Formats: sequence, C-alpha cells, structure tokens
Amino acid sequence: MKIDIRSLSENQIIEFFEQKGFDSYRGKQVYEWIWKKSTYSFDEMTNLSKDLRLMLDSNFVINHIEVDKIQKSSDGTIKNAVKLFDDYTVESVLIPTDDRTTACVSSQVGCSLDCKFCATSKLKRMRNLNPDEIYDQVVTINNQSLKYFKRSLSNIVFMGMGEPLMNYNNLIESIEKISSDKGLNISQKRIVVSTSGIPKMIKKLADENLKVNLALSLHSAIEETRNSIMPFSAKFSLEDIKESLLYWYSKTKRRITFEYIVWKGINDSVDDINALVNYCKYIPSKVNLIEYNSIGDETFKSASQSMINLYKDLLEKNKITVTVRRSRGKDIDAACGQLANKEVSLN
Ligand code: SAH
Repeated sequence: MKIDIRSLSENQIIEFFEQKGFDSYRGKQVYEWIWKKSTYSFDEMTNLSKDLRLMLDSNFVINHIEVDKIQKSSDGTIKNAVKLFDDYTVESVLIPTDDRTTACVSSQVGCSLDCKFCATSKLKRMRNLNPDEIYDQVVTINNQSLKYFKRSLSNIVFMGMGEPLMNYNNLIESIEKISSDKGLNISQKRIVVSTSGIPKMIKKLADENLKVNLALSLHSAIEETRNSIMPFSAKFSLEDIKESLLYWYSKTKRRITFEYIVWKGINDSVDDINALVNYCKYIPSKVNLIEYNSIGDETFKSASQSMINLYKDLLEKNKITVTVRRSRGKDIDAACGQLANKEVSLN
C-alpha cells in the first residue's frame, strides 16, 4: 500500500527526495503544496516536472476529506458532513457571528464517552482522526467563510465529535500545523480545546507550551450528579480535575472556561449553584452557561429561564465571570451535542 504523504514530516519528505538523488528543496516544495496550499493531487504541483509528479504518484497517496453534504441553518450556521478516505463520516460546523467566523471541528469518528445528553455518544467510537483530517476541516471552513462571509476564519473550537484529549498526539500535531506559518498561520490563542476532563491529559497539555485555551465540560460540581450524567467521569474525581486545572493555570496563566448546561430536575437547585460557586471560586475561570439542545431524550429538559438567571446572579455575586451562550444551528442539528451524522446514509 502506498504511504499517505501527509503522514510524513517535512524532513522525511526531504530525505525521500535526497535518497532518490534529487535536490532537497523539492521536498520543501512538496511540503508547501500539501499543507499551505492544501493540494490534493500531485498533478497540480506545477513547479515540479511531469516525471517528478509521476514518481510521487507511484510512491504516495494524498488522503483527504471530502464534503459530502452541506446544510445551512436559517441563522447562517453551516454544517458539513465530512467523508474520510475510508468512508467514515464526521461533522464540522461553521458558526458566523457579526464579526467572527468560528469553526467547530471533530477529533474522532464517534466518541467513546457516554455523556447521556449528547447525541454523539450514541455513535460508537470508530477511530481517531489524523492530523490532516482535522486540518482539512479547518481549511474547508476557512474557504466557506471566505466564500459566504468574505472574511477568513477567526476562531477554532474542538467541540465537534469526539474527545480531543483522547486523540492527544494528533490533536497536538493538528494544532501545530494549523498555527504554523507553513500551514494556516492561525494564532493558537484563537483555538479552544474542549474536554470532558481527563486530569492527566490536561496536565500534559499544560506542559506543551502552546497558547491554546481550555474549556472543561463541567455540567455539575456535585460528584454524584456529574457521574450520573457523564458516567465515564466516575474515574476522575472533581478534586483531581480541580488539581489539574490549577496546574494548567500555573503553567499557562490562561483562565479555564467551564461549560455548563442547566437541566430541569438535574442541576437546577440552589445546592447545585452553591456547589458550582464553591468549585470555581478557587480556580481562575469563567462559566459559560450553554443552552441545552434537545436530542430527543425525555430525561433532559432545559431548566426554566428564572433558574438560569439565578445561576447567573449568584455566580456574579461571587465575582465569577459568567456568560450565557445562545445556541446556533439548531434547525439543522448542528448545535453542541447534536452531531450524530443524522443526514448521512449508512450504506
Ligand atoms: N468531548 C469534548 C468536546 C465535545 S462536546 C467535551 O466533552 O468537552 C462540546 C460541548 O457540547 C461540551 O461542553 C458538551 O458537554 C456540550 N454538549 C453535549 N451535548 C450537548 C447538548 N445536547 N446540548 C448542549 N451542549 C451539549
């Protein structure tokens, strides 16, 4: 089987050319084509001779994603069903606001976590995405942003399908490619990695010396409640998560964002609010109250507006920054937690 040339580093490509007796700058040229220019065919590499292109073609393939289907929401959100080289599908979403375009990208095919309120958890985790598959989602959305909104992509959130910290190496490699001047040259400060909370991996990420931001899907600061709606989290105590977040802050000096949904009868009591206040008071952080997007399960219903307001008031009284995030793209199942390849036929 031919090797995917995008699985090689620039040095490996240069070495390949040198071994074949060519100048090393050929390797640099090819690397530029496959990353900076996102070229999916050797034939388009016009600064290489026909023979060189044929030689590459007989040694390598360029695996790449293909957008299978595009859905547009009435609010401007665009959802892409993205086909991978081995026919699996993931979804990625373009979210426009007045002055920004955000790409919400997937990191795995399906997800191995079991958050009861998330549609993706119903899909079995099939495999991790490769760095180039994450990169390609960003390129696709950048091109869509230029086409439909006449501006470049401004922000990237790892809040699509999958748990990014369970695809750690590829996550890091994709971030490096996205932010490199040999890639998309998008600042790491504009990237958010969202995790359900794996302490060991949060610490590891803190040690990377990247400039990305961290979001943690908390949803409850009461251990028992959290474990009932996010059963895998029973393996990681809230204390351990807190310790890893404090480590993150000590290393990066960047505040953590807690993602938090308020559900009727699950976490909508004053005790729940107090637990949240006590949990995040000691962690440099802000709380993002996110609207629940129904996935058709009767157990989960959004809490009343007055309860959400009470959350906001009590957090603010305790000097904790809080924002309320309205949902986007609900009409096309593109909102948080709704990515489940619904429109994709499984033939
Ligand atoms: N696995 C990562 C990233 C994917 S989920 C994580 O857990 O953070 C991105 C965000 O959407 C998380 O905060 C998740 O808890 C939230 N989410 C999941 N299902 C949702 C739903 N039905 N409505 C609103 N947000 C949801």
